[in-house]
Amino acid sequence: MKIIDHIQNAKGKTLFSFELLPPAKGQSIQSIYKTMDELMEFKPPFIDVTYHREDYLYKEHANGLLERVSYRKRPGTVAICAAIMNKYKVDAVPHLICGGFTKEETENALIDLNFLGIDNVLVLRGDARRGDADFIPTEGGHSFATDLLEQVANMNQGRYLHEDIETSEKTNFCIGVAGYPEKHFESPNFNTDFKFLKKKIEMGAEFIVTQMFFNVQKYKDFVTKCREHDINVPIIPGLKPITSKKQLVTLPRVFHLDIPEELSDAIADCHTNADVRQVGQEWLVQQCKELIEFGAPVLHFYTMSNPGPTKKIVEQLF
Ligand code: FAD
Repeated sequence: MKIIDHIQNAKGKTLFSFELLPPAKGQSIQSIYKTMDELMEFKPPFIDVTYHREDYLYKEHANGLLERVSYRKRPGTVAICAAIMNKYKVDAVPHLICGGFTKEETENALIDLNFLGIDNVLVLRGDARRGDADFIPTEGGHSFATDLLEQVANMNQGRYLHEDIETSEKTNFCIGVAGYPEKHFESPNFNTDFKFLKKKIEMGAEFIVTQMFFNVQKYKDFVTKCREHDINVPIIPGLKPITSKKQLVTLPRVFHLDIPEELSDAIADCHTNADVRQVGQEWLVQQCKELIEFGAPVLHFYTMSNPGPTKKIVEQLF
């Protein structure tokens, strides 16, 4: 079922959904099942599965020379989506990225998803490869999420890369895109970033999932701005509890967000890891309560392959 239909069927009740990472290469899918077993009690209408492009790995040879190898640490997104749908009868939302794919490969992936009965895709550009300063588009691939979105929207019209439109099956993907309440880090200013978000909606995106944030007012301001500019699709807040002191540095560095002083001070004052987790949990529960009151359609949790902290939070809200 499409995400927009899940939201409409909920009739204003806030739903809970989760994002999972594919296991690292060489690991079993059992870790996904274990996580799903823990989260199913919250009746998620859908589960997102991230996509990870190849990175560089440096292998040292006996003669001391380093060989640079292209390496995908977390393959398996499409197969995990199929496995989740088959085993748990829950919709799975694969993330689809520009980086690492030619348009032809993207088309083939979309055909696979369509044949598997996957109704939703989250369309993203993807980040730069580790070791690259900037995002470098793959030759023959897409440069921005808008380009990838156009390809999916075209297939929804029966327009493939080379096939005859008259005889080609129309796919029916519900397309989601990313939104940044605190602006995408590469954008020169919030309004420029916002213009591209609006463009994505005009091109056919039907829902937005936000980058994580720790200040609910930023989400509220973002939603208000969207509504003022005629962006009326559901805006799903992305959420994550802070679970370690180190994240006071890593989360702003990786996700380009602000951690409110009150929260960072409280975490900095903690003496044990358990205290940090408690503070992070209490903060996120409060965020969730405010978001539910504000009418957020879904609370979407970035589990980062560790469902425990998320579970403790959702237990207090479900
Ligand atoms: P875009 O929309 O392409 O935007 C990138 C930058 O270019 C922005 O600054 C924007 O303002 C600008 N821009 C947008 N369109 C245009 C245009 N047409 N012309 C010129 N400039 C433009 N990454 C992964 O690798 N795998 C994942 O599974 C994944 N999941 C994510 C899930 C969520 C909910 C979010 C919020 C992010 C996720 N990311 C993932 C990270 C994401 O790929 C990065 O944030 C990436 O840097 C930008 O992706 P985007 O889709 O927002 O890109």
